[in-house]
Amino acid sequence: MPWTEKRLCSSCGLCSIQAWPVEESISSCVFTNGWLGEREKNLFGRERSFEDPIELRFGITTERFTAQLKQPIAGSQWSGIITRMATRAYEEKLVEGVVTLHCDPDHHFYSLPVLAKNSAEIFASRGNKPVLSPVLQSLESAWHLGMKKILVIGAACHLHTLKDFQKRFAYLQDMEILTIGIPCVDNISRSKWPWILERISQSPATALSMEFMQDFRIHIWHKNGNVEKVPFFSLPEELADPGIFPPSCMSCFDYLNALADITVGYLGAELLPKEKRQWVLVRTETGKKLLQLIDGELERFAESGNWECRSFVQKTSKRIIESMKVRQKEYSVKRNIPLWLGQILSTFLCTIGPKGEGFAHYSVDYHLIRHYYYVKFRYPELLERVVPKYVPVILEEYGLPL
Ligand SMILES: Cc1cc2nc3c(=O)[nH]c(=O)nc-3n(C[C@H](O)[C@H](O)[C@H](O)COP(=O)(O)OP(=O)(O)OC[C@H]3O[C@@H](n4cnc5c(N)ncnc54)[C@H](O)[C@@H]3O)c2cc1C
Ligand code: SF4
Ligand code: SF4
Repeated sequence: MPWTEKRLCSSCGLCSIQAWPVEESISSCVFTNGWLGEREKNLFGRERSFEDPIELRFGITTERFTAQLKQPIAGSQWSGIITRMATRAYEEKLVEGVVTLHCDPDHHFYSLPVLAKNSAEIFASRGNKPVLSPVLQSLESAWHLGMKKILVIGAACHLHTLKDFQKRFAYLQDMEILTIGIPCVDNISRSKWPWILERISQSPATALSMEFMQDFRIHIWHKNGNVEKVPFFSLPEELADPGIFPPSCMSCFDYLNALADITVGYLGAELLPKEKRQWVLVRTETGKKLLQLIDGELERFAESGNWECRSFVQKTSKRIIESMKVRQKEYSVKRNIPLWLGQILSTFLCTIGPKGEGFAHYSVDYHLIRHYYYVKFRYPELLERVVPKYVPVILEEYGLPL
């Protein structure tokens, strides 16, 4: 179901399932029930602590560290920790199938939902698809096949809706569902993707993958091995329009996928040349079990960086609030800051700016401030329903108005 002006929808795939009424799927939708709250309590027996500034942002964890596979998997997004963990879970018979995505053969940036039923199909699911993706659609195949143990790899909206649906309705209650989460933010609808890529990259036709990086640049990997690095500051002004992102993703309040058994990203890891360090947040006993499957294959590092990032968030928050308020602005096609100056600014910020867990702290706070004011000014009727309780606590820390 595509998102509409009236109803937020991230096209998670649950409503495409024919095996049960769509009204039941919608009643479990994260945009019906809101983020975290009861769902966090159902999983952990409690909600995140408001007294612990780290848990407040990163969610409940039992262990956090950075790591990379000693033998990275070619074609994966980073070193391939997720793909390897999923493969080992299948080989060790922890699961019979993996609900995930393949690349669309006609367009490698787009996704196709898949129930991967062997190691080759799991391997083929590696890599990023930077568009809204109906991951949950393949639950239907697993259900028809009578599978009793599956792994779901998804973004926060997938896992919120899935967990609620499994608890609320009988269909999946005798299925053991393990979950690996990706951090997710700034996702894009398929219809807007070509327009956006053309404005970011100087060679959109050869782009293979893209990521917003900790060095304040967008990295675009090309077919010939080149990595194009575009400073955030030098993007054409029209890309600052909040309307380029789906309203669902601008109303998203779980960047770090706090209901996953284990979250695997990169934003809290150090960015080092020629390394592919990832950030691992183990949340549950099942997450620990998944991690143990590949522990011997990992090169591990402690989290690094200085937690403090208050002045950086404060410098940008006023501008964010203003840009969420404005509805009818004409955005220029020009870059306000030329590329050469943007590169200098990115390098400077990289030197003095937050790193490691400080960068993760900054990025979580930046996005939750942006999303809170997006909902407040554009969907005020949804404010109470979708915004979780931890958000006002953080806004208050910065003295920002509710
Ligand atoms: C839109 C988007 C934004 C992201 N933003 C951040 C970020 O800001 N910070 C950060 O640390 N990480 C982010 N990630 C996650 C990151 O890109 C990697 O997926 C993650 O670090 C795992 O790397 P890996 O090498 O272990 O993945 P791989 O082993 O390559 O496995 C990646 C898995 O993710 C699945 N996947 C890919 N795209 C999607 C999608 N659109 N929806 C659901 N599942 C998908 C793949 O099918 C595969 O199973 C983002 C991902 C997406 C899709
Ligand atoms: S996000 Fe998923 S559950 Fe919610 S309306 Fe869209 S497809 Fe349905
Ligand atoms: S940004 Fe949020 S709503 Fe959008 S796809 Fe990612 S997890 Fe889902």
